[in-house]
Amino acid sequence: MDDAIELFMVGPIQTNCYAYESAGECMVVDPGGEGAMLADALSGFKVVAIVCTHGHGDHVGGVAALKAATGAPYLIHAADSEAAQHSSQVPEWGICYDDDAPEPDGLLSEGDVISVGTARFSVMETPGHTPGCVCLVGSGSAEGVVFSGDTLFAGSRGRTDLPGGDTATIMDSLARLKREVPPEAAVYPGHGLSTTMARELAVNPYLR
Ligand SMILES: [Zn+2]
Repeated sequence: MDDAIELFMVGPIQTNCYAYESAGECMVVDPGGEGAMLADALSGFKVVAIVCTHGHGDHVGGVAALKAATGAPYLIHAADSEAAQHSSQVPEWGICYDDDAPEPDGLLSEGDVISVGTARFSVMETPGHTPGCVCLVGSGSAEGVVFSGDTLFAGSRGRTDLPGGDTATIMDSLARLKREVPPEAAVYPGHGLSTTMARELAVNPYLR
C-alpha cells in the first residue's frame, strides 16, 4: 500500500498539521491544536511519533491531548523544548492556544532519523524562525518529501521578529535547504499551500 500525507488545519490560525501514513503507522507533524480530534481521525493507525518542527503554540498546542490519547512519544529540538512548555500563553499571532507542550519524550538533533512504516525522516536543523526549528527530510518510501515547518513557506519564509528569531540565521538555513534539498522534492510548510523546491527556487525571493 502506498504512503499518504493527510493535512489537518488546526487551531485558531489554522496551522498545517500533517499525518504521514505508511504501512499502518503514522507520524504526526505539528499538532497545533485539537489533539483529541486528531487522535480520533487517526485511530486507524498506530501513531509512532508526534514531531514538532518548533516550539510555538500554534504548532504544539495539541500535543498534550494527542499524546494522552495515543501514548505516542513527543519529539522536539532541545532549543525549543522549554519554550514549548509555556507556549499556550505566548501567542505568535495574538491568540492563545489549547495547551502547553508536555516534557518531551525525546530531543531531536541534526541527523536523527524517525521511522514510520517504510518511510524515514532525517532531522535537519534549520534555526532562525526559532532557535530549535527543524525540517524533516524524507527517504525510503518518503523520498522527495520535506516538512519545512515555519522555515520555508510557498513564496516566503518564517518571520524572525519573535523571541529567539534571527534573520541572518534563517537565511543561512534557507541557503542550506537550497543546497541540500533536490528540486523535485515536495515541500509541506507549517502554514499555507504545499509547494515544490523547484517552484520555490524559481519564485521565492528568500532563496535567490
Ligand atoms: Zn512559528
